[in-house]
Amino acid sequence: MINFKEEVEKRKEQLIQDIETLCAIPSVYNEKTIGENQPYGSECRQALDAMLAIGKRDGFVVHDENGYAGHIDIGDQEESFGILGHLDVVPVDSRGWDSDPFKVVQANGKLYGRGVADDKGPLLAGYYAAKIIHDLDLPVKKKIRVIFGCDEERGSSCVEHYFTKNPYPSMGFTPDAEFPVVYGEKGIVRFHITGNVKKDGLIAMVAGDRVNIVPGECEAIIEGNHKQYEESFKQFLSDHHVTGIIEEEGNCTKLVLKGKSAHASLPEEGINAVSLLATYLDTVINNKLVHFIATYLNDYYGKGLQINHEGLMGKLTMNLGVVKYVKEDADIELDLRCPHEIDLKEMCDGVKELCQSLGLNLESDIHEPLYIDPNSELVQKLHKAYVEVSGDTESQPQAIGGGTYAKSMPNCVAFGCEFKDEDNAIHGNNENIKIDSLLKSTEIFAKAIYDLIKE
Ligand SMILES: [Zn+2]
Repeated sequence: MINFKEEVEKRKEQLIQDIETLCAIPSVYNEKTIGENQPYGSECRQALDAMLAIGKRDGFVVHDENGYAGHIDIGDQEESFGILGHLDVVPVDSRGWDSDPFKVVQANGKLYGRGVADDKGPLLAGYYAAKIIHDLDLPVKKKIRVIFGCDEERGSSCVEHYFTKNPYPSMGFTPDAEFPVVYGEKGIVRFHITGNVKKDGLIAMVAGDRVNIVPGECEAIIEGNHKQYEESFKQFLSDHHVTGIIEEEGNCTKLVLKGKSAHASLPEEGINAVSLLATYLDTVINNKLVHFIATYLNDYYGKGLQINHEGLMGKLTMNLGVVKYVKEDADIELDLRCPHEIDLKEMCDGVKELCQSLGLNLESDIHEPLYIDPNSELVQKLHKAYVEVSGDTESQPQAIGGGTYAKSMPNCVAFGCEFKDEDNAIHGNNENIKIDSLLKSTEIFAKAIYDLIKE
């Protein structure tokens, strides 16, 4: 039996030191310093150089893809197993931190610093796992290619570019999410609906500024004296257990309805203020936009549009995130998370046809889903290593509504590093990772990779 735990322990200090080195570089996208071989600015370039230097120091062959991404090859076999991580980080609000975000601090058994958990720490955990397999000279069929991009946080243009110049590994994982293992990510579709809609009682309607958030408040101005709406509006609010405001606005009426915000991947956890206010307005005015929202966009699962579907990854969800109606110009944005069984192009064509028949225009933006058979060798073996090391036999491989790096490469899933019941404050203040968890992740990775590539 190979004692991976002991091997990880031996390399603990070096691993932490390397995390300190990478996290000292504020590798946030920086438009001002974009240049040759540094498409995301000088700090991302520095982080890439630092990672390549780690690989060189340890005697491995490294590759720089013109500053977009790079890789370290561990082994020299033809076929490769990929570990896909990223070196860029999101900006910090240093007022909210208890320490310098770009100087790793150890306290309470944790490392604190921007990037310790997203994603420099997990990337290095993957690298050290690969290095252990190499150092022990274990018999393997594939080399391990550790790939790192510099633009994950803004949408992964880095690895998109990288994979136009480099082959895909035959399989792999991205340590940029959570355990146990994410085998499915719903497809993401964005709808942008626009059109000129006659006033017919509605002066303005505004809500939301981000399509991926359930709008928690919606405001509308309608024609007519507020007194005539007061009773019915208050009754409506009370019937739906929400609050709101009705008041005079010039010789018109202003209505505000307060719902509840939530993330677009789980819209049922919120209360969409737009669709609810539209439902009320549809009973008192005869405006086409209001009627459109109240009829077709009035649920979290696309039932009104007749695109609802429940698949292996769960339900299609729909969020009406942004509405702007001013001077008879309508502008609506929706965010849909779609199980992999749906033909997204066909779905978009259907909705476009419906919009056109109502005099509205629809543009759609499609991001295909990720789905790896949960019974595949890849998912099964990753999960097995997780269970063996963590002792957690309850958590099962899962499908999520969000999007990770795993979508950038075929036969790739998201695997670690956040453990359940731990909050690494990813993207937040005082981002942190437990040193024990980091070592455990490294052990899980080494075990899992070896199980997948051994001879
Ligand atoms: Zn990340």
